Amino acid sequence: MRGKIVVGNWKMNGGLQANASLLAALRAGWTARDGRALVVCVPFPYLGQARDALAGSAVAWGAQDVSAHAAGAYTGEVAGGMLVEFGANYALVGHSERRQLHAETDGEVAGKARAALQAGVTPIVCVGETLAERDDHDTERVVGRQFDVVAAALDADLRRVVLAYEPVWAIGSGRTATPEQAQQVHGFLRARLRAAGAVDVPVLYGGSVKAVNAGALFAMPDVDGGLVGGASLDAKEFLAIAVA
Ligand code: PEP
Repeated sequence: MRGKIVVGNWKMNGGLQANASLLAALRAGWTARDGRALVVCVPFPYLGQARDALAGSAVAWGAQDVSAHAAGAYTGEVAGGMLVEFGANYALVGHSERRQLHAETDGEVAGKARAALQAGVTPIVCVGETLAERDDHDTERVVGRQFDVVAAALDADLRRVVLAYEPVWAIGSGRTATPEQAQQVHGFLRARLRAAGAVDVPVLYGGSVKAVNAGALFAMPDVDGGLVGGASLDAKEFLAIAVA
């Protein structure tokens, strides 16, 4: 049976002092439990702080992006091997903010997922449609295309990723997908995973997840946890989501 994973995406938020309180509260409030994993994806400069604050705890940490390259003349990029040196187990790839604000293509996202796996980091591959695409009844075509490019690039290694369905219209908007809307897309993705021989890949839901709506979302049969932005900056709220 697949367990639940709850991942916090701090985005470009934080500071040494605020992080110290948040990480200490997560460390104190989260103990290892069967079938539940808690992860925080922090900005690159804070990886060392996360490693030191969370070492020996049940909370894992990761980054919000990773280069498609292992090393070289790629100014500003961070390689998977560097993340591993800081004890990171996860990296988000293809977050909609990267796709939209940095024009990341499906092919680049696939390259990043492959580089992460090669370095020993689990990529959390984000897919999701815009509001216009949903209104055009184009959700499955868009999400299916984003998925297929990654699946083709990874082949049998697709089994080693985490997938996150994040409807763009629900991210940071306060407007979450209903559990039924989420399940519909998660069921679609599960069928694609099954066809690719990777049925056990966890599929997380992201988009305005809060303690008040997490339980209903996570109760859906193909929702294996959440990718949480804003609410992951509040330890009490994030921990409440983690047990929902
Ligand atoms: C995210 O950043 O991936 C996200 C889902 O943000 P929020 O929870 O704030 O909508």
